[in-house]
Amino acid sequence: MKGFAMLGIGKVGWVEKDRPVCGPLDAIVRPLAVSPCTSDIHTVWEGAIGERHNMILGHEAVGEVVEVGNLVKDFKAGDRVLIAAITPDWSTLEAQAGYSMHSGGMLSGWKFSNFKDGVFGEFFHVNDADGNLAHLPEGLDLESAVMLADMVPTGLHGVELADVQFGDTVCVIGIGPVGLMSVAGASIRGASEIFAVGSRPNCVELAKEFGATAIINYKNGDIVEQVMKLTNGKGVDRVIIAGGDGETTFAQAIKMLKPGGRIGNVNYLGSGDNVLIPRAEWGCGMGHKTIAGGLMPGGRLKMEKLASLVLSKRIQPSKLITHKFHGFEHIEEALLLMKDKPKDLIKPIVIIE
Ligand code: NDP
Ligand code: ZN
Repeated sequence: MKGFAMLGIGKVGWVEKDRPVCGPLDAIVRPLAVSPCTSDIHTVWEGAIGERHNMILGHEAVGEVVEVGNLVKDFKAGDRVLIAAITPDWSTLEAQAGYSMHSGGMLSGWKFSNFKDGVFGEFFHVNDADGNLAHLPEGLDLESAVMLADMVPTGLHGVELADVQFGDTVCVIGIGPVGLMSVAGASIRGASEIFAVGSRPNCVELAKEFGATAIINYKNGDIVEQVMKLTNGKGVDRVIIAGGDGETTFAQAIKMLKPGGRIGNVNYLGSGDNVLIPRAEWGCGMGHKTIAGGLMPGGRLKMEKLASLVLSKRIQPSKLITHKFHGFEHIEEALLLMKDKPKDLIKPIVIIE
């Protein structure tokens, strides 16, 4: 089979590989639609997870099952399925402790385009099929379905990590597709004010539509000053980080947070050795400013619940899609678009079916 792969750090290309083998609990799926992710860019061009050779990229897909193992109960060949980007081993102790994303070791629930070939192949392998696939509900469009793989669960996980409560003031740093879903999630959770930090015009427009009450352009001066101005010097209750870096951005998040506040980070820090926490603004270590950073949990239940949010129109993730391609061979183009991030891009999608 063909796949679009990371050949090495900074290098991508098409590869020929054997079709993956299906274990007794697994499924083999063919993609119906896929989307490249900013994380693929960190992986290839920043070498964020280290060297990988001829690893098929991609972790965002909706697909059709072509084969299942003999112990799989709820899925069969021909089923159209949602697949989260994170596919944990549900029987591990980490999963039993509530940290499925770290099943088998830190970040080990993230398998596609990390420890094994991803979804930019003609076929891909899904471990623990009963736990990691969800039936594609009737009436759910492929565009939304692909966004359910990563953008929706990750953006909403930022909201969960920051633990947004009714009436909270929230700053969402970064309003690419992930941060935009955080804005939508904070709005559903009952935030009173949502300050959205970004600059691309169509992201700004969508942030407003999804519930942002003010836009902060980080290119127009220090975002901490801008937040302090909007809050009469008080700062915000919650910060969700979905863009920026581990130094300036982290420091800014701590500075704009009220004592007792919480940061939810879903940003993938692709470079640098340390994260910067400003001592004085962290209350000299005593400010009760909590930092929670996490990978989204994945799994069938989560996918079913999030799909129901789309079906009831509480979130509209298909609005993230600005560029649509038709045909497997366009995966390369879509990925390079994600790398170059033209001003009008939020998220590209490749329809294969
Ligand atoms: P984008 O690159 O599309 O968006 C990044 C956002 O951050 C943009 O709004 C951008 O502004 C803004 N930004 C850039 N620099 C700064 C800065 N210095 N200060 C403030 N804002 C800044 O990324 P995605 O939305 O696709 O992804 C966001 C992050 O989430 C990525 O790091 C990605 O790898 C990660 N991720 C994490 C996952 C997880 O499970 N934890 C899963 C999926 C993704 P502008 O409008 O100017 O572009
Ligand atoms: Zn992703």
